[in-house]
Amino acid sequence: MAEIAIKDQIRKMIELQKIDREIYNLKIDLKEKPAMLADLKAEFESQKVALEELEKKLKAVLVERKEKELELKTREDEIAKANAQLSQIKTNKEYSAKMSEIEHIKADKSIIEEKILVSYDKSDSVAAEVEKERGKVAEEEKKYLAAKKTIEDDIKVIEDRIKVFDSQRKQALPGIDPALLARYEKILKHKEGVAIVPVQGQDSCGGCFMNVTPQQVNAIKMHQELIECEMCSRILYLEDDL
Ligand SMILES: [Zn+2]
Repeated sequence: MAEIAIKDQIRKMIELQKIDREIYNLKIDLKEKPAMLADLKAEFESQKVALEELEKKLKAVLVERKEKELELKTREDEIAKANAQLSQIKTNKEYSAKMSEIEHIKADKSIIEEKILVSYDKSDSVAAEVEKERGKVAEEEKKYLAAKKTIEDDIKVIEDRIKVFDSQRKQALPGIDPALLARYEKILKHKEGVAIVPVQGQDSCGGCFMNVTPQQVNAIKMHQELIECEMCSRILYLEDDL
């Protein structure tokens, strides 16, 4: 290829590279977003665990109380039955035995009543904790939804910017030789979105910073072909040579 043509191709590829670098960086940003959304969600879900535990605890207290109330009802029935039997009793001995039985059941009953009272105190305090924790979770949910919306908005902005650069890219393509473009794109794909770099300080690659030999620099100046870095394979050019 002629000197003018190679220079022109390099200039066009440098312009294309500017666009491709933007697209590459935007795509990296975009790629991080789903993990960010997942992290946010996991973080919020983990803050609901304490509430779920408290709700379970409250439920257990209520179930236990229900059982105690049924026991209490049973004792009351037993006392009523024993009292009814008293009137049928003929001897003093039987009478005092029945009275003693009733006293036992009453003692049992008052233990159960005591437990029920304690259970009310407990459920009141757990219910208050549940309410407090619900408030906290509601606050966290607001923060979570706001942070989620920010990320989702970012995604839209990035996608729109990529579209803009994609259309700029289409406009930059005509005029680049298809074979050179294919070479450029292959490097772009494998080298972190950077296919063409300037030689820095006369002797190092602007992509991988490894040494560029004087022979290579001379070859670049000849403009007979595209010269690639021997280490990273990126296309090299000299900034003050264009
Ligand atoms: Zn290199």
